[in-house]
Amino acid sequence: MALIVQKYGGTSVGSVERIQCVAEKIAGFRDQGHDVVVVVSAMSGETNRLAGLARAIAPQPDAREYDVLLSTGEQVTIALLAMALKQRGCPARSFTGGQVRILTDSAHNKARIKDIDRRDMDDALSGGQVVVVAGFQGVDENGSITTLGRGGSDTTAVALAAALEADECQIYTDVDGVYTTDPRVVPEARRLDRITFEEMLEMASLGSKVLQIRAVEFAGKYNVPLRVLSSFAEGGGTLISYEDEGMEQALISGIAFNRDEAKLTVLGVPDHPGVASQILGPIGEANIEVDMIIQNVAADGTTDFTFTVHRNDFEKATVVLEKVAVELGAREVAGDNKIVKISLVGVGMRSHAGIAGKMFELLAKEGINIRMISTSEIKVSVVVDEKYLELGVRALHSGFALEHAIEVMD
Ligand code: ASP
Ligand code: MG
Repeated sequence: MALIVQKYGGTSVGSVERIQCVAEKIAGFRDQGHDVVVVVSAMSGETNRLAGLARAIAPQPDAREYDVLLSTGEQVTIALLAMALKQRGCPARSFTGGQVRILTDSAHNKARIKDIDRRDMDDALSGGQVVVVAGFQGVDENGSITTLGRGGSDTTAVALAAALEADECQIYTDVDGVYTTDPRVVPEARRLDRITFEEMLEMASLGSKVLQIRAVEFAGKYNVPLRVLSSFAEGGGTLISYEDEGMEQALISGIAFNRDEAKLTVLGVPDHPGVASQILGPIGEANIEVDMIIQNVAADGTTDFTFTVHRNDFEKATVVLEKVAVELGAREVAGDNKIVKISLVGVGMRSHAGIAGKMFELLAKEGINIRMISTSEIKVSVVVDEKYLELGVRALHSGFALEHAIEVMD
């Protein structure tokens, strides 16, 4: 018998029929003898609808009242789900975030969880009830309702699992797991049975939006095994956990990509100490996040300084750089916002050389020019022209045979 925390997202509770299906599923787990704590999102579209109402009243709605409003979506679904469970003869009890006492700071609309009181949930569980908790919301020290930021129900689920020392936190959603890459780009993409927290963070931040990044970080920090699975289809989903010694480890777990990239170069910068900070300082002050950075010294002793930013920041960054270039006596500023980043991700890389070389070779064979490269212990990223995204991802996916279960290492 295990204690399982399950989270059902908006589409999984998007209608009365779907809520009935979820109740059926939960009752099944309980019949197997498990203790179940369920976290639900608002019905799909509801949080957006509420946000729209607020904006129709005030362009910048009051942050406290905005949370009072947005949190109502989840209050609806906990009540309906608890009713559906009871209707099936399955004892259940709904809890708002405040009723559990999910204590957060007072940063309305993006609050952070500070503490969770498990006593009432423990009492309900030992009384044989399914505990149904509203995701995305908490309460601050003054008793005000707070919300955790969009998509925050994932974080609620992981935080409850950590507080309750649950055996597993299961995130039920409309996809059946984490894939080697986006199946819309590579139809042969394969669902991964497992992936490590580190890999998942790389995949998530690189654009595979299956889970809220914060929830993955939280799960890693508290070592809560996380499983992503479909509410609609059968199957074991993908387990996200720590690397387990002795387990046969795939060399590459997946290929992530990001279409939101742009790159900027300051050409012919006099090469002396302080140049990098003179360029990136004003960029940081303009609140522009920098991703990859490359600096190269030319034969004439000047340097070319290139970095990437989010595509939305491209114009803003160009304006800042034009000014900096004049101050530095640089030759010119060049930019390109038709680029993408493709990354190979895998903890197997840690112990294997030659991955980057093979990646470059596969891209070269397709005639794809690499514009920038960056590496970390568990990933290799390249920047290429936007038009090569699909071709590049497909070439790498088949070149590393990701459609097959485990790439045998030699
Ligand atoms: N209902 C909230 C949202 O739409 C929280 C969640 O679904 O996780 O962002
Ligand atoms: Mg969600």
